[in-house]
Amino acid sequence: MTVNKAAAEAGWNLEHTYAQLPGMFYSKLNPVAVPAPKLVILNHSLAKSLGLNSQVLQREDGVAVLAGNRLPKGAIPLAQAYAGHQFGYFTMLGDGRAILLGEQITPSGERFDIQLKGSGKTPYSRGGDGRAALGPMLREYIISEAMHGLGIATGRSLAVVTTGETVIRQTRQPGAVLTRVAASHLRIGTFEYAARWGTVEDLRALADYTLKRHFPEADHTDNPYLYLLGEVIKRQASLVAKWQLVGFIHGVMNTDNVTLSGETIDYGPCAFMDTYHPDTVFSSIDRQGRYAYGNQPIIAQWNLARFAETLLPLIDDNQAEAVKLAQGAHSDFAKLYHSNWLAGMRAKLGIFNEESKDESLIQQLLDLMQRYGADFTNTFRALTLDRPGDAPLFDSAEFKQWYQLWQARLGRQQQSKEAVHQLMRKSNPAVIPRNHRVEDALAAAEKGDYSVMRRLLAVLSDPYRYSAEQDQYSTPPPKNQRYVTFCGT
Ligand code: AMP
Ligand code: MG
Repeated sequence: MTVNKAAAEAGWNLEHTYAQLPGMFYSKLNPVAVPAPKLVILNHSLAKSLGLNSQVLQREDGVAVLAGNRLPKGAIPLAQAYAGHQFGYFTMLGDGRAILLGEQITPSGERFDIQLKGSGKTPYSRGGDGRAALGPMLREYIISEAMHGLGIATGRSLAVVTTGETVIRQTRQPGAVLTRVAASHLRIGTFEYAARWGTVEDLRALADYTLKRHFPEADHTDNPYLYLLGEVIKRQASLVAKWQLVGFIHGVMNTDNVTLSGETIDYGPCAFMDTYHPDTVFSSIDRQGRYAYGNQPIIAQWNLARFAETLLPLIDDNQAEAVKLAQGAHSDFAKLYHSNWLAGMRAKLGIFNEESKDESLIQQLLDLMQRYGADFTNTFRALTLDRPGDAPLFDSAEFKQWYQLWQARLGRQQQSKEAVHQLMRKSNPAVIPRNHRVEDALAAAEKGDYSVMRRLLAVLSDPYRYSAEQDQYSTPPPKNQRYVTFCGT
């Protein structure tokens, strides 16, 4: 049949270990076909690394796979079941508009989930339409690829197709399907689901699966489930520190959006901070600021406590002992996060060695940035280039004093000025996906002009390059422009 021939030529090489989990973890179903699929963007370099042939993917039969109209060989399409704490409240969720096709085995032997988002209703859709709109799918594409460029673990975006359907949100919008690629979509919420509704054997099957997929070395440890908790904590501590270091605000850190692989997923209401302020929130529904920039580490810790709770029956038969062990592991998060953050901030300031007063030097700068309404990215960029501009921060006497302290601090290490500059360049992006730039790209795309988005993606693919073109993308938005993001788009 032509279907499978085309799929084979495209390089699809799918396995489906997730479908071997107990049946409670998924519902098998096909994506809902769409009337008129049209490829609007394809990630050629990602396709190549997955062992996929871009030329074939762009053909009609290749696009049909990316739209969910045809299944590649080896696919076992399913929606994953999970629960989660949303804004602190436990609820049943699951893929309401996503279908996992399978796991692509790459030429180098890696395994990645291939998931279609916007591919129709599932048993977990609740009131939703199962569909996605073009703007938000392109936005997810841009931000996830920008995160990858920044060197932050993330699910990635392979392609966006428009469907020929209209979806109704605040307005009528073109429908779209995004193909997402991730180390896995196992979430804290998957464990919460198993702990609440499964048997201990279901939970153990999920934990063993997670260990095999992400932490195979656990075989050699005394207590693999305690090890799992510790490793997930380590990865989240590292991930959230990286978010903080570039001013990324996830916006909806519900436990169902926290992966066990340590990748960032679920790019709904996320956005990058312009002016530095710990209270910064973009999401329209986050009225209490639960997921504000400055709260992200505390929320990660809270989410990990929910994860720890699910593992108790596996960690030890004696509940008191299990609690003691889990609490011990969980209490490491704060230390781990702090050391990741401090190491990252030292690097942002070109500091190689450690002095006890470094943290206070860093905090003084952040306090000044907050007081003077300084742009987060551009402040570090200016320090990197040693070109403080005419921003109010740089004109202040307090900054000049701080600058002297910083220079003196740099003088107390062996490294040359050039080495300091190189460390700062690697640690401070010249460019981030500024909200107004992303909006410009989306507005053009919705009119059928994808060139603005392509240029933006090129600039974001290597944010540490400090190219002349990146200069043009570093202008912050007008100060009075309040940017708002939305969930479930
Ligand atoms: P999110 O806020 O993206 O993490 O989504 C929370 C839940 O809502 C998940 O179970 C999603 O699958 C579901 N969901 C979001 N949008 C839709 C939609 N348009 N149709 C069906 N389910 C949706
Ligand atoms: Mg989600």
